[in-house]
This record gives sequence, C-alpha cells and structure tokens, in this order.
Amino acid sequence: MRTVEYKRKHRWASYGTSKCKEYLRYDFLCECAYCKLNEVDCGLVTSHFFEVDHFIPQTSDTTVDHSYGNLIYSCQVCNNKKGNENGALNPCEENIWGKHITNGFCEESGYICKALTEEGSLHLKVLQLNTRAHIKMRKQSVSRLLWDRIDEIVIDIQNRLKLKKSIDDEIKTELFHVLELIKSGRQYEPREPISIAVDYLNSHSIINDLIFKEYNLDISITFNDIVYYCELVIDASDIKSENLNKYIDTERLKYWSKHVSERVGILFFYPNAKRMYFFPIPESSIDVSKTKYHVHLTEKQLLNSSFTLN
Ligand SMILES: [Zn+2]
Repeated sequence: MRTVEYKRKHRWASYGTSKCKEYLRYDFLCECAYCKLNEVDCGLVTSHFFEVDHFIPQTSDTTVDHSYGNLIYSCQVCNNKKGNENGALNPCEENIWGKHITNGFCEESGYICKALTEEGSLHLKVLQLNTRAHIKMRKQSVSRLLWDRIDEIVIDIQNRLKLKKSIDDEIKTELFHVLELIKSGRQYEPREPISIAVDYLNSHSIINDLIFKEYNLDISITFNDIVYYCELVIDASDIKSENLNKYIDTERLKYWSKHVSERVGILFFYPNAKRMYFFPIPESSIDVSKTKYHVHLTEKQLLNSSFTLN
C-alpha cells in the first residue's frame, strides 16, 4: 500500500470559499505540509502565518487550478519560497520524509535534512528546508513530540484509574480534572466562524460535536437520540438582507445518500444575524433530476432552546 504524508478528504471546497482553509488545516493536521511547522510551535501569529498554496501554480500558459485537490496547507515561508518554481514534491502523493529526504527531526542529525534521492535534493533546494529558522523549529518540534508522548501516557493513566476502584474518590476526581486540563490544551480548536457556530449550538443546549467528516459533514447534532451529520453553510448576510431561500446541489444529496449511513442535515448559519436554521434532509421524495433543490427556511426551522423536531 502506498503511504503518503497527508490525505485530503473528499470535500466540496475550492480556493477562497468560506471553509476551504479550515478544511485544509484539519486535513493537514494543522501543519505546513512542506516543512512540517506545526501551528502549536507558532504561537500567537498562527492564523496569519499559514496560507493556502496551489501545488500546481499558475503559469503563463495555464489557468490556475483552484480545486481542493490542488491545495496545500502551507506556512508563509514555504509558500513564498515555492512560488511558481517547479520541483517541490507533492506531500499528498509522495511519502517525502524518509524516502526522498532524511528525517531532520532528531538531535543526531543536527536537525538537518539530507537528500536521499535526486528529487529530494531538488525539493530541499526549492523549499530551502535547512535554514537556521528551520533547524530551530525542528528542535522545538521534537520537544513538542515529547509532550504528545506525555499525552499518551496521560490517557493510559486515565484508563487505569477508571478500572482501579480502590483509589480514594476525591483524589481520583482531582487527578481526572488535572489530566483533562492537560489533554484539552492540546486538542484541535476550530477557528471562526466554525467556532462561533459551535458556540451558538452550545448556548442553545443543542448536543453537538465537531466531526469534520468527508463530504463537508462538519458538525453532528443530536435530537431525540437521533444523530444528524450536518454540513455547516455559512451566510454572511446581515439581518435585513438575510436570504431564507436556499438551493442545495442535488449532486451533493446523491453523494450523501450513497456514501453516508447516518441521517444528514444542513445547518444554515447567519453569524451576523445570530441565527441558525436546521434542515434535515428528507430520507425520500427528493427530485434529483434537477440540479438544485430548493429550501425555504421558516421560523419552525430556527434552532433555539425550544426547537423541536417533528
Ligand atoms: Zn513551511
């Protein structure tokens, strides 16, 4: 089986669309796919420091491919270095580290990456992956990896604690609390506006979970013990011009009915109007011969604390 550094999920998102960068961020594990600089090593500048790179850049004789499959989560430095140069290897098609270049993430190597193949040599040259900044970053990253290992140990201790009943209950509760805190500091945190959508659901006591599943299924919500996998559709309209007529691609509906076994719905979110509507996709009776399916949102579908599904 061919192994690759990163695997993009199937998503309907192209360059510049509202959730595109967040999807890439998730699929590329919050790190630059070229130099492996991780957001957690970046501090406060994080959101500005990561960009969307077109793997195949625009050249004079082609138009630029904005599709999700051509996009890479990249730090500013790598994106600038790569520019329109050819020769960088595709991290979604190649297992670059270990095959084309050595793993520079260890003390013995002096945190330097060496080329193992000709392609690797060109890759290093185009992206200039051995600058002083890269070496410093790799050092930092190694200590972060130690933290990840500590996380694993923490989870292991938690599991053991669950089983061992003889430990004093109070100590157990305290310990659990500390372990939860350590763990929560290292989890994937969504950025606006997805995090605002999650806040909205929480504030209306709607059971939800951020899932980022394939086919744009971003958040799950639960009503009467039924779980709905939902696409979050964000509409930046203000309150006055809030458009309550929505059109869903029937292509998407066909995909969902074929590939997703859970119930599916759409969350239409208007962050400026502070409103969210829930439209569960009917299990049948959708005319897929047309390209768009029309939905008119009403107050009945407005998600708030008194929302009921009937
Ligand atoms: Zn980078």
